[in-house]
Amino acid sequence: QTHFLSLSLQAKMSRLVQARRLEGIDKNIWVEFVKLAATYATVNLGQGFPDFPPLDFLKEAFVRALSGENHMLHQYTRAFGHPPLVKILAQFFGKLLGRDLDPMTNVMVTVGAYQALFCCFQAFVDEGDEVIIIEPFFDCYEPMVKMAGGTPVFVPLRPKAPKEGKLMSSADWQLDPAELASKFSERTKAIVLNSPNNPLGKVFSRGELELIADLCEKHDILCISDEVYEWLVYDGKEHIRIASLQGMWDRTVMIGSAGKTFSATGWKVGWTVGPNRLLQHLRTVHQNSVYHCATIAQEAVAQGFQREIELYGKPDSYLVQLPKMLQQKRDWLVQSLDAVGMKPIIPEGTYFLVADISEFKSDVPDVPDSDEPCDYRFAKWMVKNKGLAAIPLSSFYCGAHKNNYNHFIRFCFAKEEATLKAANDILQKWKREKTSP
Ligand code: PMP
Repeated sequence: QTHFLSLSLQAKMSRLVQARRLEGIDKNIWVEFVKLAATYATVNLGQGFPDFPPLDFLKEAFVRALSGENHMLHQYTRAFGHPPLVKILAQFFGKLLGRDLDPMTNVMVTVGAYQALFCCFQAFVDEGDEVIIIEPFFDCYEPMVKMAGGTPVFVPLRPKAPKEGKLMSSADWQLDPAELASKFSERTKAIVLNSPNNPLGKVFSRGELELIADLCEKHDILCISDEVYEWLVYDGKEHIRIASLQGMWDRTVMIGSAGKTFSATGWKVGWTVGPNRLLQHLRTVHQNSVYHCATIAQEAVAQGFQREIELYGKPDSYLVQLPKMLQQKRDWLVQSLDAVGMKPIIPEGTYFLVADISEFKSDVPDVPDSDEPCDYRFAKWMVKNKGLAAIPLSSFYCGAHKNNYNHFIRFCFAKEEATLKAANDILQKWKREKTSP
């Protein structure tokens, strides 16, 4: 009897437990580096979140929603977005795009931009479809395309040498038009655009967006436009929405994040804006998976946007103040890195700055047969030995291209002055140790 039981148990266990679509996507850079930072970092410039508080107004809006008269805010709300939030988003983005948006059909609220991305890939990508991804890319695009049964096709931004004596800028990383065009085929279903780009901070120019838009039109392709850093643009640069270009509205889903807009990444409120012909399919995925996002968080974000609409373009607007504050933080980190010889690539936007570690690589013990890219080993060594957390750039590349871009790391500068100063102290001390061993 026992023998029989153990046999049948064995038979059951020998079946593959996990679905085939999970193959090869079990590792996640954030899970790994968040743990390393929690264990070793004294200064965490790794994952992209601010360590400063959101605006008081926004926190108070959340508290009002939580403890106010309207106890219905503790209950379910409309699946595709709390009515006050979709209404204000339609008004706000309608104004930016210069078109009338219907809150019920042109806007859908998601659990962060992350779920918006998931909805897009599930809704649009079939077995055998190809999705073009511009490298370096926010890492989840690749597993999300694969989970939907699609094939990611990668095209890298190519760095040009900066002018003599100048630091490189994220604008020096550009698409090769012929190379980009060569990636489009009859199997291509969509392209993912992320401007401003995580990790480089590149803000795509009108010319670059027109190049992408022309190819989308020519090949009848969708554009999944991840614009979570839309407000974080520096040096007077302009964020251009690809949906506003000729012919692009009908084929674009714009994705945004209250986390990045209002410095409250933990609230996990995101949204999609686009034509009903696309959003109706996102609604199908959403209603059959997550269903809706926390009501109170949506209510508070709606109030945040209400305030922004009233203050639009004025000095008191958070969306005017935030990029100013972040530009200064960027400049501090640029100076710190430049002073020690960890050459920064000046970002035009986002929370992030990529730096060249070539002059520091020799500090890290070599592991000859390691299959880990050397920027991975560098970032792990740095957090363990220097207490400073950053993310290896190769994690934003596909497997085949990782070793072409293995001498950079990404820092997040959306941090308090004291945090950036502590990072500066670590870098200075490191530099001193290098020069006087
Ligand atoms: N897209 C990009 C490019 C991001 O950097 C992030 C967050 N790091 C997201 C999407 C996800 O945003 P959210 O936190 O709103 O889910």
